[in-house]
Amino acid sequence: VPNDLVLTDAVPPTKCPECGVVNSGALGVDGTRPKKGDVSICMYCRHISIFTEDLGLREPTIDEMLAMGREPKIQAALSVLAKCPPPGHK
Ligand SMILES: [Zn+2]
Repeated sequence: VPNDLVLTDAVPPTKCPECGVVNSGALGVDGTRPKKGDVSICMYCRHISIFTEDLGLREPTIDEMLAMGREPKIQAALSVLAKCPPPGHK
């Protein structure tokens, strides 16, 4: 597990809207259970999604994409992910 990310199993399996892989866990920057509006990054294709009310995933809006570009925690998570290979293949 990358150093500054915390593995949490508190999320239901979510299917990436981009590559279709089911992510069964989540790496959280603070280890807390994700909530509606939180950002999810696919472990396989690095696609960024937004958690919905029931912890499903949806595509981010343009405004959300712009906000992510300015969010240091997200940039840090992406740079950590860029250094570790995807966890196997489906
Ligand atoms: Zn994906």
